[in-house]
Order: sequence, then structure tokens, then C-alpha cells
Amino acid sequence: MTDTEALKQRVRESIDDHSEEITSLAASVHAEPELGYKETKTTEKVAEELRDLGLEVETELAVTGARARAEGDTEADDFVFAVLGELDALVNPGHPAADPTTGACHACGHEAQLANLVGTAYGLVASGVVEELPGAVEFLAVPAEEYLDLEYRRSLLEEGKIEFFGGKQELIKRGYFDDVNAAAMVHAASETPEREVSSNFSSNGFVGKTVQYEGRESHAGGAPEEGINALNAAMTGMNAVNANRETFPDEEHVRVHPIVTKGGDGVNVVPADVQMESYVRAKSVDAIEEANETTNRALESGAMAVGANVTIDDFPGYLPLRTDPTLVESFDDNALEVIGEDALYGEHQHVTGSTDMGDVTQLVPGVHPWTGGFEGSAHSTEFGVADEEMAYLLPAKVTASLVVDVLADPEKRAAIREAKREKRSTEEYLETVREMRHTREAEYMEEPADDDQD
Ligand SMILES: [Zn+2]
Ligand SMILES: [Zn+2]
Repeated sequence: MTDTEALKQRVRESIDDHSEEITSLAASVHAEPELGYKETKTTEKVAEELRDLGLEVETELAVTGARARAEGDTEADDFVFAVLGELDALVNPGHPAADPTTGACHACGHEAQLANLVGTAYGLVASGVVEELPGAVEFLAVPAEEYLDLEYRRSLLEEGKIEFFGGKQELIKRGYFDDVNAAAMVHAASETPEREVSSNFSSNGFVGKTVQYEGRESHAGGAPEEGINALNAAMTGMNAVNANRETFPDEEHVRVHPIVTKGGDGVNVVPADVQMESYVRAKSVDAIEEANETTNRALESGAMAVGANVTIDDFPGYLPLRTDPTLVESFDDNALEVIGEDALYGEHQHVTGSTDMGDVTQLVPGVHPWTGGFEGSAHSTEFGVADEEMAYLLPAKVTASLVVDVLADPEKRAAIREAKREKRSTEEYLETVREMRHTREAEYMEEPADDDQD
């Protein structure tokens, strides 16, 4: 057995020795779901486990969140490997484990990510292995991944407590990734009860928007000619978006999916206030920006068509996920060892949803594998753990082994450092996402003509 193999054996055994603590942390988090930027109890539960390992824990990173660093031989190398876990739940009041007051539930498996985070810490720290490796391991419990409960987040924004709705974006801004060289986070795979993982994929990023059409009210039956119909403006705008879909390049996987959140007030009144929300998603930042410009022009045309006004507020969503080949290869090798020869599913694929781990991978080489052990479709009422060992323990063994492999191997560290040079700096990242925040206003509404002629 090589030295590295012996170290990996020790971290895996240490995870087995602490399986009880890891599994009960997941159960406890599952039982008390909290929404993004409100995860105070969940933060404390994770912090407690990390403190039990003798680590110094910082909390309230961005409203909530916790971090701790386990240092190895940092004289030999200052390489920092960050392992992440998401703290937040989502809203689905119909889920059997939903909180009866808030409707929050862990229907996205984030409790398993925290088991992975804490499990990896038990593997590397309780075994003493981390002290025998060059570099350091950062354990990072991050707030607010699910993009929801936006009214509350807007209030945090107005109070100056956050700038971004996504927790990882906020942590990037606050410098928590500045000295990080590599990042890993696992995520529950939808409808995958099998003992399988998939790490080699990319994802879309997106810009979010709210749209408000302003028209003029009048009697819908008696005097529609005196009104300006904001709903017609919205429908024309949406049709104009559809008329542009054939121009979106296939390879960019563009997704534009508007909804109407307010369609009018009373059926016998010409609608004067119609509101919409949408995302514009694509595979690359350039394609997001191009498709967004097209979408905004199309939405504006609806206002022009009927002589209404329109205000389009864009805000940064998440950036596209790009996984690092060195980390993917090493994760997969360890998955084959820990889980078995059928552990890998899926060829290289592009997924058209989005995650704020995408933002992290725009700065730092990263890996974001989907892990099995879960039944039901993610976010649905049927979603839940099907196989506790697969959901909570095996990914921790793979992640801890990945960390050992990278920190123990100067060639892997060099390849990852090289990959980081190609990435955005924190400043460049902030410039990109801040540019996504802008307002487009267009006024086509004219003052009503004076009615004094006969
Ligand atoms: Zn989710
Ligand atoms: Zn999730």
C-alpha cells in the first residue's frame, strides 16, 4: 500500500467510526428546516460538530453560515482545499417533513451535504490525517442556495446586510474564497436511489428579471378605447420573445421562461398594471448577456405596440458551472474505490438548471458531483433519502479521499493552480455580476387628449 492509500484508508475508517454522529446531524437538520439567510439553528448544529473536532469556528459569515480551517503542513504548501455544504431548505408545504408554520423542508437533500461536510471533517481531522498533509482544509457551511423567499432577501438587501441573494455569491464578495485553491461540494441527485455518482458536467447560468407594464385603466366594456391595455403589452412582449427563440444558438442551451405574476385587477377594468418575472439562462456568460439583450428588446416591443410604459429590472442570478478535470478524475477514481465499479453514471453532460456553485467555479477550480441514495424528484413532495449510507456516508468517504489525493500529490496541486490562473479574479467576478444588475425603462404612453372639443 502506498502512503497515500494508507492515509485514505484511515480517513474512511474514521468516517465509519463516527457514522452515528454524522447520520444524526443529518436527521436533526432534516427535522428543523430553515430557509436561506435564516439558518441559525442549522449553522449552530454544524458549528457544534466542528468545535467537537477541536476546530475554531467562525459563524455569521453572511447573516448565517459557519467556517473552520484544519491546517496541515502549511509551510510545505499553502494550498487550501474548501469543502462546502449548503444550509438552507426550500418551501414545499405539502412535503411530509415540512415545517407546519413556514412550509420549509429539505426536499433538495441539503442535510446530506452537511453530513458530507461534517463527515469529511471527521475523516480528515479526527483521524489526524490532515496534520500529515501539506496545505489546509477549509470546511464551509454556506447560506441561501435556493433562490426564493425573495421579499425577505430584498429586505436584507435594503438593510445593507447582503448585496446578493445567493449565499455563495455573498461569501465570494466577502473574500471567503480569496485564498481557496480548490472547492468540492456534493449534491443529491434527483430520482437516483442507486449507489451512483456523476461529477463530469456543466450547467447553465442565468439573469433574473421583473417586468412591469404600465397602461391606463378604463371601463373594459364601456370605453376600452380610452384605456391602454398593459396585459396586451405583456402578451405581445412574450410573443416577441417567442419570435426570437430560433435565434438562440443550440449549443448555448438558452432557456427563457417568463411567468405573469399580476395580470390585472378586475375583469371589467382594462388592466393598467401587469407584472412578470423571468429568468434568461444559457451555458456561457456571453450567451446569457446576448439572450438577455434580445429578451429585453422583445419585452419592450410589447409596450411600444400598445403605447404603454415598461420597466425591466435585471438582477444577477447564478453563473454557469464549470468543473475542473483534475478534481473530476480524482473524485471518480475514489468513487470507484469506495462505492464500487458501477458507481459512475452519465457521460459528460450539460444540465440546463443553475446553482451558485457555478459562481464559485468561475473563480476556483471545483467539482459538484450528483450523488445517489435519494428517491423522488428534487423539490417535490416525494423526495427523500432511500439509502442512508449512500446519502450520508459514502460521499464523505469519497470527498475526504479526494482531498487526501490532491493535497498529497504535488502534480495535482500544480495542475489545479494552473487551472485557477484561467479563472476570474474576485474583482472580475464582481464586475461581471454587478453589470447584470440594471434597469431598462421605456415610455410609449402619451397623455390623454383633452376632451373639450365637440
Ligand atoms: Zn434545490
Ligand atoms: Zn439543492
